[in-house]
Amino acid sequence: MYKESFATLIEIRSLHRHVMESQQIVEKHQKRLSDFQQKIDECSMLITDTKTDLLGRQKERLAQENSYSMLEQSQTKTTNHLEVATNNQQVTACEKELATIKNEMEQLEDNILETLEQEDEWTERITTKTEEESGLSKSIKNIESEVLQDTTSEQHIIVGYNERITQLESELTPVVLNAYQNLMSNFTAPFSFIEKQKCTECFIQVPANVEQQVNTCNNLEYCSNCGRLFLVK
Ligand SMILES: [Zn+2]
Repeated sequence: MYKESFATLIEIRSLHRHVMESQQIVEKHQKRLSDFQQKIDECSMLITDTKTDLLGRQKERLAQENSYSMLEQSQTKTTNHLEVATNNQQVTACEKELATIKNEMEQLEDNILETLEQEDEWTERITTKTEEESGLSKSIKNIESEVLQDTTSEQHIIVGYNERITQLESELTPVVLNAYQNLMSNFTAPFSFIEKQKCTECFIQVPANVEQQVNTCNNLEYCSNCGRLFLVK
């Protein structure tokens, strides 16, 4: 009685699988594009962060250079004091101060050099990453058109499958259609078979009398475990 309906449902089942496969292909293409976009975004973020760091370093260096020129002024002033010193005590005091100033200047020179090196390194990183970003941005245009072409053709295929599914659904008897619609609201793969006395979807053992009933095609029999409709090939 249901033999013909089962054949139709088997075809619908196979079409649903094809639709799922095609949707996976579409998702794969779209993921390829989004992964690529992510690479560009990471590049842009790194450039922005490095520019901010570089700006901070440049400000720091300007402050260091400022302190350095103030030390130079103190050095000149103290040297002048030393030249007009009238006793040993004054000479010692000036010499001590000059030594301190010299020490601070040397320390600052080291710091400034270190900052300059860091600035060079970051400037180079910005250049490299900007080139990389520009290369990626050019490539993504090609990838976008490839992905658009591939997904469009896959979507046409999906439309074809769905049209055929709609047509097959219209051929189902009201009882089978009702059962089918209930199943479709609960499962993405709502049909099962019995193979080696087991449900092919949930693998539970199926009693022999149920299998006999299923094989008569006279009733709609469902798996007692997963609830899928048993079809007969
Ligand atoms: Zn089952």
